[in-house]
Amino acid sequence: MNPEETDLLCRNLKYGTVEERQSAAKLLENAEPFVISDLIKALDDADYGVIKNAMESLSIIGDFRAVDALSKVAKESDSALIRKLAAKVVQEIEKRDVGVKEPKETEKKHTTGKTDAAKKTEGIFPFDEVRAGQREFMEDVGKIVESGGHLVAHVPTGIGKTAAAIVPALGFSMNNEKTVFFLTSKMSQHKIAIETIKKINKRHNAGIFAVDLIGRQAMCPHDVGDLYSWEFMLLCKARREEGSCKYFKNKHYGQMVEMIKRQTLHAEEIKKECMQSCICPYDTTLEAAKQADIVIADYYHLFSQDIRKNVLHKTGKEIEDLIIIVDEAHNLPDRVRNLLDYTITDYIIKQAVSELQAPAYAPVRSDIRAISLAMKSLAKDMKAGEERRITKEELKREMDKNLSVDYDKFVKVLKKTGKKLLEEKDRHRSYAADLGEILRAWDGPDTGTVRILQNMGAPSISYKILDPSLIAREVFDGAHASVMMSGTLTPMQMYADLMGITGAKLAEYQSPFPPENRMLIIVPGVTTKFTSRGDEMFRKIAKSIGDISENVPGNIAVFFPSYYLMNEVLNGIGVEKQALVEERGMTKEMKTGLLNSLADAKEKGGAVLFGVLGGSMSEGTDYADNLLECVIVVGIPLAKPTLEVDCLIEYYDKKLGRGRDYGYVFPAMNNVLQAMGRCIRSETDRGVIVLMDERFKWQNYMRCFPKDYKFILSEKPEEHVKRFFGQGNYKPPTQ
Ligand code: SF4
Repeated sequence: MNPEETDLLCRNLKYGTVEERQSAAKLLENAEPFVISDLIKALDDADYGVIKNAMESLSIIGDFRAVDALSKVAKESDSALIRKLAAKVVQEIEKRDVGVKEPKETEKKHTTGKTDAAKKTEGIFPFDEVRAGQREFMEDVGKIVESGGHLVAHVPTGIGKTAAAIVPALGFSMNNEKTVFFLTSKMSQHKIAIETIKKINKRHNAGIFAVDLIGRQAMCPHDVGDLYSWEFMLLCKARREEGSCKYFKNKHYGQMVEMIKRQTLHAEEIKKECMQSCICPYDTTLEAAKQADIVIADYYHLFSQDIRKNVLHKTGKEIEDLIIIVDEAHNLPDRVRNLLDYTITDYIIKQAVSELQAPAYAPVRSDIRAISLAMKSLAKDMKAGEERRITKEELKREMDKNLSVDYDKFVKVLKKTGKKLLEEKDRHRSYAADLGEILRAWDGPDTGTVRILQNMGAPSISYKILDPSLIAREVFDGAHASVMMSGTLTPMQMYADLMGITGAKLAEYQSPFPPENRMLIIVPGVTTKFTSRGDEMFRKIAKSIGDISENVPGNIAVFFPSYYLMNEVLNGIGVEKQALVEERGMTKEMKTGLLNSLADAKEKGGAVLFGVLGGSMSEGTDYADNLLECVIVVGIPLAKPTLEVDCLIEYYDKKLGRGRDYGYVFPAMNNVLQAMGRCIRSETDRGVIVLMDERFKWQNYMRCFPKDYKFILSEKPEEHVKRFFGQGNYKPPTQ
């Protein structure tokens, strides 16, 4: 047997159809000893993927011949890797002492398809009991998917929203030829969703086929991590067209799809397996998604029009057959806005000119200078630091004065030139391609968008979307049903409005955590309001933080609206606990370091983490096991009054009469709610959340909190904190 035959045999045994696995197992079972030794011998010539498969297959056979042969290999092979693998497999076989004769009952379920699995969706909840609030949420999801409506749901941390949304959605979809798309922006949430499906399948033998879909670029085995997405798309397209991508050439998806179906793999596991089998991971995942009951994907897979078309086309699905669950939905408006956010700076123009130094590119080079000349001419009367709105036509008119071809032709030339450059060996970026993409977008719609010219030393132009419903509405309108859910989705009407969802059910669920485990305090008499800022105020805030710190036994996190304010307060702070400070541009590893320091300090009197609102330490970080016993929010992170913010306020004033709320107040309050949510992460966590700014008691801000938030107003928060941690029988206020 040569390595290819060995590999095929092993793959059939592991991932083949029922028939393929039965016949492969039979072949090996009945094989003469020399077949086994051939198999082992083949390992010496094989690559790592083949070795791994062969070893695992031998482990599946698990009989004495494999043990004998492998024991020999474990002692005698020249390769340390093979010796190690063989020894491990022998150990496993001896421990289990089982053989594979028939595919297991659980595996048979996978081959019976959607209908059989659908019958099993009743009662597929993956945990022992349904929590408080969870049942209500599940019932609402069930009703919404049945009626084909929309649910916008504030689902507090601890309810277990992933399982609670997935179970009823699958219960309906699998009996009604629909597909669930679970959308999330975070890899950690992809994992939670996949793990939830694994639990359901394990516990109920439900045979649910889940596919974990991340971006084509993230799944691509080539070295493309640094490219802008459109640069990558050009490169990928070129490689596919000219046949230079070895992964794309391989179209034998069958075995890999079977494996994804059988094993419910995370995206990175799919990528790894596909790389070993030399097949494009993204195309394989889409192929698998054709049969999937649930697809775990990112927001842009459905909200970017081009990507949505491609995903639906490749998976053979129609938008009206989708049940869309948007997780962490408070992020969706900004994520959709980011889909249309383009800027041309002096730097991009210079880089594009310098990459086109070859004489053949002289005409393009000269036309690129037309962009620069147009921007300079438009900004000639602006002072440094000024910004103003411009129209699409203003730029095009100015450019026309110096372009050798018309605008549309120039865009095409840039894209074509960029594509050509990206085909050059070792080139991963083309600024000409970037410019082509931005100028194409510049020609887009006017309503609900803004074009801004800035003069920050050198002029720059940007084109942004203000109203995400321009993109999102058609997705929600088209889908069979949708659920937008988050632990901080108040006020819910705003999210429905921003997404263009009409007639949605808005629902707020009760936190399952005991209310006596959480104390909420607003401190009047302090503020970061611009007109009240000054040394005296910063000292007052610093002193209050110090006083609170003395009365908290464990860790504290203090979050500020900006690094500037954080540093001003830090100058006057005096805390005995170890101070940990979040800095601009920290890497993932550095942030993990901060978490580790908090964990170390937890039982040694605690530390104080200083960070910013809207940053990753105040949003999305899970401080598990009561890692924070106190969260202090200093001030309200209202946006700077930039032209873009003014335009946003003006737009929503005209559209809904809610400009200040939707463009200014509510986004800031969402940052506050996110930070507050870092404190209590489980039903056994206890903690105090202190809001240091008198404005929080104003109705304008108070209305943004969930209904079950009951605050104490106190200028001496440290006394309440002391009692909370000292007595242990706290009763929250009822009003
Ligand atoms: S076809 Fe697949 S593997 Fe090839 S470049 Fe594109 S994404 Fe990467």
